[in-house]
This record gives sequence, structure tokens and C-alpha cells, in this order.
Amino acid sequence: MLRRLCSVVLAFFAMAAAAAERDPLVLRGEIDGGDHQSYREVPFTVPSGTARITVAFDYDGREDKTTIDLGLLGPDGFRGWSGGNKREFTVSAYDATPSYLPGALPAGEWRLLLGIPNIRADASASYTAEVRFTPVGAEERLPGSLQPVLGEEARWYRGDLHMHSAHSDASCNSQGGERVPCPLFLTLQTAAAQGLDFVALTDHNTVSHLHDIRGLQPYFDRLLLIPGMEVTTFQGHANVFGLQAPLDFRVGDTVPDWNALLREAQARDLLLSVNHPVRPSDERCMGCGWTPSGGTDWSRIAAVEAVNGADAGTPMSGIPFWHAQLDAGHRLTGVGGSDNHDAGLTQSQFGRSRIGAPVTAVHAALLSQQAILDGIRAGRVFVDVDGSRDRVLDLVARYRANEVAMGGMLALPAGAEADFELRLAGVADARVEVIVDGEIAPLLADPVVSDTGQPLRWRWRSDGGRHWLRVDVRDADGRLLLVGNPVYVNF
Ligand SMILES: [Zn+2]
Ligand SMILES: [Zn+2]
Repeated sequence: MLRRLCSVVLAFFAMAAAAAERDPLVLRGEIDGGDHQSYREVPFTVPSGTARITVAFDYDGREDKTTIDLGLLGPDGFRGWSGGNKREFTVSAYDATPSYLPGALPAGEWRLLLGIPNIRADASASYTAEVRFTPVGAEERLPGSLQPVLGEEARWYRGDLHMHSAHSDASCNSQGGERVPCPLFLTLQTAAAQGLDFVALTDHNTVSHLHDIRGLQPYFDRLLLIPGMEVTTFQGHANVFGLQAPLDFRVGDTVPDWNALLREAQARDLLLSVNHPVRPSDERCMGCGWTPSGGTDWSRIAAVEAVNGADAGTPMSGIPFWHAQLDAGHRLTGVGGSDNHDAGLTQSQFGRSRIGAPVTAVHAALLSQQAILDGIRAGRVFVDVDGSRDRVLDLVARYRANEVAMGGMLALPAGAEADFELRLAGVADARVEVIVDGEIAPLLADPVVSDTGQPLRWRWRSDGGRHWLRVDVRDADGRLLLVGNPVYVNF
């Protein structure tokens, strides 16, 4: 019993240690003319349980042509050399700044390797290296310098939340016309050409793309790369967003059931979206439908893929499934993803969709990973089924002094009337459907959008119960264009 208690206490301290941000280690030193054309090793100790080392390096004397090059030696030898071309680098088990090698980070003595190609005979200079250690268990908490902010405005940002590359089962035509594993660069170049603001890279059950992202993000400085993984099990698929280390996907084996996986994802603060929930789960598509053997704890899930590729309007659409969860009282953001497996596709059809069809538009405070994921959680989100560049759907509801956007909740007593206002752009001659608890409600006198500059308004009376209201927009032929997220009432 005592032993068990001790192990519980130890586990608690281990968790507390993992959660704490460690202060950076600062290494300082001086060089002078006697160090001209020499190398110097600067030792430092990597604590046990380190998942990432991030080094920021600077020195003075550049005006006198003093130059200090930089490299890294681990206990087992060479881990990289960036010469004079980078002032910061990071190394983890799964990714590293180009010039450096990802891999295990054993505790013990490591050394910064300095090279001094030039310092004048009468000069001296000082250098500073700030070394940060990210603990195991806190991999997702990247140092701020590794979290790009690509847009400073609060606005709609448009992205594709589901795509594959050579890191799983995507293929495309090579230069010579052969089908080859499709390189991630091509996927990103296509996404950038579509004008997307962000993409989530969701290869099946792997994080091998993390290393590519480290090298590619600086080039794609208008396209935010969100690391993800499509957790692909025998009982359903789900995207997790924001991960920096693997997540065990072996549901029914090393992971008892989906709920255990959901707990792990939540503990790591990963956003999880259930993918294409309505698919066969047999020899036609193995494990594709959502069929968790132990049930689903929806409280740990933020989103459902309401639109996967070109499945809107087909029997495979995820929208009725999403509605059923909303009806059961779960607040879940409806999102979309192309599930692209070929960056070269320019047209979509069921099962083969081009990048950016659909687009998920997220109203976010910034274009950063944290802001986009926070925006998805908050639910001011719509799905643009065709992946246009200009269509917008925004819904607000007001009751007395309270105003909420999509994803927000109004408390409305029985008899209270809320005012709804819908703003649309890019959808002239379309038809608006207001959906209340899964049914189209005749709340609009004229559901045809004639002038998209004018908001549509209606009033809705509460019976005091729990409800959700959202909007779809269809073209004149009834084809779905935009899928809005709910305003919740009394949830
Ligand atoms: Zn899937
Ligand atoms: Zn997929």
C-alpha cells in the first residue's frame, strides 16, 4: 500500500515537473584574437526527460568582421552544423531545424560547437547562447519563437483541415509520369496557389512530416502549417491538430478503447475532430466509419468533419451524424476537409477531392496555430463546400444586452425572443435554410438571397428548452454551398 502511495506521489511530482516551464540556461563566453581560426566546445547538461532543445545564439563584434559559426555535439557525436547561417535552431526526437538532425535526446553532457573563421588580432567579442529544454510530456508547448504568427488581424482565415502526402498514402505523377508518393512540398504549393491561409497536415498514424514542416514553414510565410495526424483505427478515424509527438493509435490493443485515446488527446490539449463518421466499416473501407466499441465521450471532442471532400448531399454526408450529436446536447464545431490524396487533382469527385475543397473558414484573432485552434473550439466557423475564395456566412443572435456569434450560447427563458442576423457574401441568388434542431424552420419570409450586401434578419421565440439554430446556403439547384455552425440556446 505504502509502495503504491509512493508511486502515486512520484507520478504526481513527475507530472508537476513535466508541466513546469524550465528557465533557459544561459551560456556566455569571450573570444579574442588568439581564437582566430579555431574551434571551441561549450559544454552544457541536458536534463533527463528532455523532449526538445532550442538554442538561440548571438555574439557581438560583427562590425569588426568577427564571425562565430555554430554546431551541436550530443553525447553520441555530431548533431548538426549551421555555420553562420542561423541564429536559432531546435532539435527534438521528430524534427530539427535544417542543418540539424532529429533523434533521441539523451541526458548528459552535450556541447555547442563554435567555429571562429575570423577575429582580428586585437579584437575581442562575447557570445551568448540561450538554451531551452522542453520536458517530455510538454512537447506541444513549443517555445514562442517556434510558433509562427503569419497574420495579425482578427478576421476570417480559410484553410483545409485534412490532407495526406508521401508521409502516408498520397500519390501523384512524377516528372516522368510515374505514380509516386506525393511530396509534401507539392501539397503546400498547391494549397498556397488556392489562396489558403492554413492547412493541417494529417497523415495516417505518423508524425514523420514534423521534420519537413520545420524546413518548409519559413518558405510558406503566408500559409500556416498546422501539424496533425489522422488517428486511423479499426473503429473510426479522427484528426488531431497541434501535436508535436506521436499519439498511440492502437485502439483495442495498447489503447483500451477510443475514450482512453480521447483522454490522452485532451491531456495533451490536442484538438480532435471525428472524420467522415458515416462510411462503411468493412472490406470496402476498413475502419472508416465511426464505430467505437466502448461508446464515445463527446465531451472530449471539439469538432466533427461535417463535410469530407465531395460527400455533401450524398448518403455518406457527415451532416446528419453531426446533427444527431447536437440534438443529444453536445456542442461540436462542424468543420470540413478535402482528405486530398493527390496534390495534382484539379477537380473533385466523391472520394477524390482537390486541395481546398471544402474550405473551413475560421474567425480567429490571429493567423497562428493557437488562434486557429481556439477559433475552431469557439465555433465561429463555416464550411465553404466548393472552396471558393470569397463566400462568407456569419450569424449572430441577440437577446437584450447579450450578443453571440456562431458557436456561442444564449440563455433564453420561455417566451423570450432573440433577434438573429445573417450576413452573407459571394452567394447571390442562393437560398438560405435556417435549421432548428435538425429541421428546416420557416423563419424567413424570403429565403432567396438577392442582394448579399444586406443582412437577413429574423426573430425566434424560445420555449425555455435546449435548442440549436444554424444556417445552410444552397445554390438555385439546391446544391449545398455553405454550412454554418450553430448558435446554442440553453445548452
Ligand atoms: Zn480517414
Ligand atoms: Zn484522410
